[in-house]
Amino acid sequence: MLRLSRFTFLVAVNGVSENWLIYNALTDMGVLVDSSIARPISGALKRGPGRKPFWRYEKNTGSEARLQRVADSLPAAITAELRRLAILVDPIKEELCIDSIVQDFLQPSCLKLTIAYTARCQMACGYCFQSGRDKSRHHDQNLIDETIAWAETYIRDHGLHALHLGLFGGEPLADYRIGLAYARGFKQLTDRLSIPLEISLTTNGLNLSNEILTQLRSCGLTYVRVTLDGPPSIHDLRRPTNSGGGSFDRILANLKKSRQIDGFGIGVAVNVDETTSRSIGTLLEVLHEAELKEDVEIILEPVMPQFSKDASERYDSAGQLRYLADAFHQVVEKQFASPLLPGMCGSCNVIQKNCFVVDWNGDLFRCSFTMLEKGMSCGSVCDGFGVSALTAAGNLQNNFDRASEVLNSCQERQCPYLSLCGGGCRFQSWLADGDWAAPSCPEKLFNEIAADAFAHSFDLKTRRR
Ligand code: SF4
Ligand code: SF4
Repeated sequence: MLRLSRFTFLVAVNGVSENWLIYNALTDMGVLVDSSIARPISGALKRGPGRKPFWRYEKNTGSEARLQRVADSLPAAITAELRRLAILVDPIKEELCIDSIVQDFLQPSCLKLTIAYTARCQMACGYCFQSGRDKSRHHDQNLIDETIAWAETYIRDHGLHALHLGLFGGEPLADYRIGLAYARGFKQLTDRLSIPLEISLTTNGLNLSNEILTQLRSCGLTYVRVTLDGPPSIHDLRRPTNSGGGSFDRILANLKKSRQIDGFGIGVAVNVDETTSRSIGTLLEVLHEAELKEDVEIILEPVMPQFSKDASERYDSAGQLRYLADAFHQVVEKQFASPLLPGMCGSCNVIQKNCFVVDWNGDLFRCSFTMLEKGMSCGSVCDGFGVSALTAAGNLQNNFDRASEVLNSCQERQCPYLSLCGGGCRFQSWLADGDWAAPSCPEKLFNEIAADAFAHSFDLKTRRR
């Protein structure tokens, strides 16, 4: 028995003879069809509330039965094609697939370690969530060795099959030698353990050079993420250097040079708020003129307040939703690549058991936004090789354990965004409700941009194939 996948979206697209896109958000695959095929599919789904027409699954009385009726109403040739694209599916197999995705969210088989090995930075961004830190802190060889030894024990104890290393700061390239020592040390470790290593670098881009990229590439660099907060006039005001000068031109020049080396992806991150959401189109024109359009993806993230008791007073969640949606529509309009849905970390690190941030003192955290609050630490790489602090039944750990339960309600609601969202940002839950485990659902944002997002992703894939 086949039924329509619960992750099916039907989107009206313009400018082609077949003017409907059937898209599966679980597999990121789709197909263009005419209205004779679109009609029975729209009948099984519910019209979404976004400003562009789209239909999606919504759990209610009779919804499962409607999904099942679709397969019978379509011609055999179409049924075969939709089955190939996992738009028509065996319901039992799809449920197993969802269970496995949720399990991967909660207990990934990879250790994801983001190391903020230096607190130094050459910039003075007004909105930095790390402001007030002791900028003299950085890892020395001792701490590098202890961190790598801690990771080895963690990987062995938990039977993990891969390592993702994130080089982070402060500004990681302000103390590049430490980053290189980590990259080389983890390369040796993963070679010894015969597991794959992926390295990502989050940098302000000022010190980015092809020499550094080449060295990191040989250790396993797969992704570089650089922040540009708008066109030069806006970026330079928001992200000045410590001496007060602008930084845009130097970063752009470094990015352009970096294209001489291949083998890794580049994300241009934009911290989205009222100012940047209005100017992102102009930034994209600058990137286009610099011939970077085909080489970068645009990552949209909300500006979040530093973790503190009164942080929630400084966070405007409704405004953020509006700014992110506006920014996303501009990315689509300018035809830049971007992750399917904007937001924080994809699936939240807090609910993923094997994700940690190591701060400049060697303390372990679940979310980088909490790094300045010692009380939010869940252990330290210096506490011998023990990982007991991470599984102890303290209040904090209980709270984080409860946080993962948010996925139960997402599954219970049969949310069609589940594979892309993974339950929302836990820090935003805490900002809204003072509880890391409270629901924080970005569904409203997703509904607003789903039609654009899925049509854009399909279009880019088709053009670049
Ligand atoms: S709480 Fe939010 S910012 Fe922190 S790891 Fe999760 S998604 Fe990222
Ligand atoms: S948090 Fe909301 S949008 Fe995200 S998976 Fe859960 S129900 Fe869906």
